Amino acid sequence: MRRKIVAGNWKMNKTFQEAEDLLDELAGRLNEEQEDQDVEVIVCPPYLYVEMAHDLCSDEDDATQVYYSVGVQDVSEHDKGAHTGEVSAAMLSSMDVEYCIVGHSERRRYFGETDAQVARKVEQLLQNEITPIVCCGEQAEDREAGKQFEVIGRQLKEGLFNLKPLDFSRLIIAYEPVWAIGTGKTATPEQAQEIHAWIRNQIQEQYGKEIARVIPILYGGSCNAKTAKDLFAQPDIDGGLIGGASLNADDFIAIVNSFDK
Ligand code: PEP
Repeated sequence: MRRKIVAGNWKMNKTFQEAEDLLDELAGRLNEEQEDQDVEVIVCPPYLYVEMAHDLCSDEDDATQVYYSVGVQDVSEHDKGAHTGEVSAAMLSSMDVEYCIVGHSERRRYFGETDAQVARKVEQLLQNEITPIVCCGEQAEDREAGKQFEVIGRQLKEGLFNLKPLDFSRLIIAYEPVWAIGTGKTATPEQAQEIHAWIRNQIQEQYGKEIARVIPILYGGSCNAKTAKDLFAQPDIDGGLIGGASLNADDFIAIVNSFDK
């Protein structure tokens, strides 16, 4: 069976106090209300709150009791040096960050992140033992033109298929149709399943059946407490990358509890 994962992408939200309140609430309530302990919960706050997120992520007296894992939203493609404002994978690793989102459509669209940069970021993360959560997905006009497979195929090929099989098997993929992100327009379970199955098939062609079988593929794009259940019930959807709904403990915990029992 594949891992079940729900990751929250806070984006550029929350002041220090708001972040502390939400992390505190999440830790307490995940401890009490998470119904399926096999669901891996990941929280990706802004960099500034990583240390606090780490301090609150587990039981004070028993660090093996982990409520959520800590991730971040981006990483530098460089290892160190004159890159003002950037944060390296080695720095993240030294702060015990375990996961990092790469290739989010907002980074691609507003910061011009290319597939080649995605490939370099993934490489940096893997070298530093951080699991990349790599986003792919088509724009509305790609889908209207029937080009979704072409676009996603290119993102996979140029961003990820240069990896050796062992490295590729350490990834989490997130399918995030750009037209669904922050728009309130969730893909239907059937639309999402079609793409997830296709991505898994591409992975199988490149890396073989076993790797394709174990790679988690998350859905992202206006996923909420109402839509998560039907999405997560699809055979190739292994959980969600959640934006807006991860900013509220009620919504996020309801999503964590949306897998079939
Ligand atoms: C995201 O940005 O990764 C995302 C899925 O956002 P939202 O859930 O708000 O659409």
